[in-house]
Amino acid sequence: MKVLYRNNGRTVIRFDVGEQFPETLAEWCEKEKVESAAVVAGIGMLKDIEIGRYDGKEYVTAKIQASSEILSLQGNVSMKESKPFVHLHVSLADENMSARGGHLFNGTVSMTIELVMLELSSKFVRIPSGGAFWRLDIPKD
Ligand code: ZN
Repeated sequence: MKVLYRNNGRTVIRFDVGEQFPETLAEWCEKEKVESAAVVAGIGMLKDIEIGRYDGKEYVTAKIQASSEILSLQGNVSMKESKPFVHLHVSLADENMSARGGHLFNGTVSMTIELVMLELSSKFVRIPSGGAFWRLDIPKD
């Protein structure tokens, strides 16, 4: 990955072939102490992807091996158990340009990802809310 631009909370990052995503982003957030952010836009390509859909109790997942076009990618960064947690949703197009999407668990960058992020000064945290989902909150202090 390469940070192409980072100024006044506005960040543009390029991810490169073979990198794990969003794991690489979470590691960078931890290194740079980014605890709260909005991921506002992402385009590029992923392969060996795992996406999911929350059924109210747990995530039902699906795997997509083929390299797929990222049509849309957005979400946020918060702190979950003292580590940056990257929560992203994605729309992907297959070789027929048909779309599938869901909660993004992981994938491998197969071309590039061009990501735009807003780093925020608020403290986003994840709190357990029953089941596998942890809800977003901002603690009052
Ligand atoms: Zn989600």
